Amino acid sequence: MAFKTDIEIAREATKRPIQEIGGKLGIPSEDLLPYGHDKAKLSQSFIDGVQGRRNGKLILVTAINPTPAGEGKTTTTVGLGDGLNRIGKNAAICIREASLGPCFGMKGGAAGGGYAQVVPMEEMNLHFTGDFHAITSAHNLLSAMIDNHIYWGNALEIDQRRVVWRRVLDMNDRALRDMVTSLGGVANGFPRQTGFDITVASEVMAILCLATGLDDLQKRLGDIIVAYTRDRKPIYARDIKADGAMTVLLKDAMQPNLVQTLENNPAFVHGGPFANIAHGCNSVIATTTALKLADYVVTEAGFGADLGAEKFMNIKCRKAGIAPDAVVIVATVRAMKMNGGVAKADLGAENVAAVEAGCANLGRHIGNVKSFGVPVVVAINHFAGDTEAEVQAVQSYVATQGSEAVLCKHWAEGSAGTEALARKVVDIIDEGGADFAPIYPDDMPLFEKIETIATAIYHADGVVADARIRDQLTAWEEAGYGHLPVCMAKTQYSFTTDPGARGAPTGFTIPVREVRLSAGAGFIVAICGEIMTMPGLPRVPSAEAIMLNEAGDIEGLF
Ligand code: ADP
Ligand code: MG
Repeated sequence: MAFKTDIEIAREATKRPIQEIGGKLGIPSEDLLPYGHDKAKLSQSFIDGVQGRRNGKLILVTAINPTPAGEGKTTTTVGLGDGLNRIGKNAAICIREASLGPCFGMKGGAAGGGYAQVVPMEEMNLHFTGDFHAITSAHNLLSAMIDNHIYWGNALEIDQRRVVWRRVLDMNDRALRDMVTSLGGVANGFPRQTGFDITVASEVMAILCLATGLDDLQKRLGDIIVAYTRDRKPIYARDIKADGAMTVLLKDAMQPNLVQTLENNPAFVHGGPFANIAHGCNSVIATTTALKLADYVVTEAGFGADLGAEKFMNIKCRKAGIAPDAVVIVATVRAMKMNGGVAKADLGAENVAAVEAGCANLGRHIGNVKSFGVPVVVAINHFAGDTEAEVQAVQSYVATQGSEAVLCKHWAEGSAGTEALARKVVDIIDEGGADFAPIYPDDMPLFEKIETIATAIYHADGVVADARIRDQLTAWEEAGYGHLPVCMAKTQYSFTTDPGARGAPTGFTIPVREVRLSAGAGFIVAICGEIMTMPGLPRVPSAEAIMLNEAGDIEGLF
């Protein structure tokens, strides 16, 4: 049987007017600011008005370490949201917006897949409601104002060699990674070395996703460190007087976007920070608002649970004062096989022994998530070629870890395929077992925070860092940044810093190469390995095959 592509399924969706979707959450139509017929932003006054309500239950969807076989976190987030609605619960979904640039590199959307998708998926993956364009503009306004300040006399005595604020663009373009700006003579300013990052890597993105409102947004924007003086005194965006105008540019982007699933259930799609140098979750404002409107909110964190869930708990939940009531870890038979040593080309053949061998990766994530005091259920995202014996192997293993693995067929069947998962999630929430706490306190020294994550989550023997890095952390503690959480930037493919080390490795250390202060977002980034903040396009970019057909529909996007 030939399967329909994601875009074919999405195009066949019977969408309901967005006012009807908002109505399911009790949002009056005057508080929905429509962007066309099937997308709307939520008015700020409505968001302010619901703050006194009690919160619904929060469910985090995370996964094992990703493999090229694919896991399906977004697909499962959407499927579980639909499944909860199917069993009569009032549930909403909160996911990230997609970055436009990568859509033209390798295929792969951010709206879920199969019969568990959010629509309109083409728009969601392209310009959507313009939030990322607004973030790009706000970021680059600050860049322009920094160079302009230097041009007109540099009253703040910015050391041009120590400008740390770069420029951003939502496009995979390796040519822009490193460059010299202001060439061309006196009228164009002072040449200096800088470069572009992709918009989702902007600190403005992380700030928008952590800000609790417009006042908090402006304060955080003002807190951004843009440069240093010759004697290393930080210069803030506030000193450049950019924070007010940046907030103006971001005013609409701060409002969460409401769309719908293929089954016409509400989904908030808002914000999309990188999951390595930033925290990788949708916006705090969308999640906290959804919690006021729905009894169950299903949300997703990027990458595997070692990065995504860890940051969701230690950064987002800590900062937003929210707590998950249950965590769903997505696993696939195929990924278990790859963790067990099978090559991608051989995934088609049944191999129970490899599945069993690969389960150690899943087991470690289960234990890690439980260490935050939150109950765990495993969702086996079913692929067409999975055999019963392989599925059984995962289920038996998970039972030995004190959890349950539920087989889910939402990709092929929509909410009918996640009924069992939805019931299980409701059951464990009703049992009331959650007693969430971040795994380190605010007042722990910064280096110890890194060590705590490395040993407790990655199961490393320890952290290796030069004196230069330890001294920098101490200097930040003395400057009043010691209370900040740590944002780990490392490969998503392994618990270690070696992308090839699958399973549940032991006997390794975590080298910290560099530390960065994101003073506006409010975290310290610990960089462990090569981290790319401006991707390139592959040899044959998918853009080559994307076009409009005679009917005016997009071809080749997914
Ligand atoms: P993640 O959020 O973990 O990155 P997604 O949910 O976006 O993963 O899924 C990645 C891709 O895998 C999507 O194109 C989706 O259609 C596909 N996919 C997900 N689940 C299945 C499945 N059960 N069978 C086949 N393809 C799937
Ligand atoms: Mg995803």
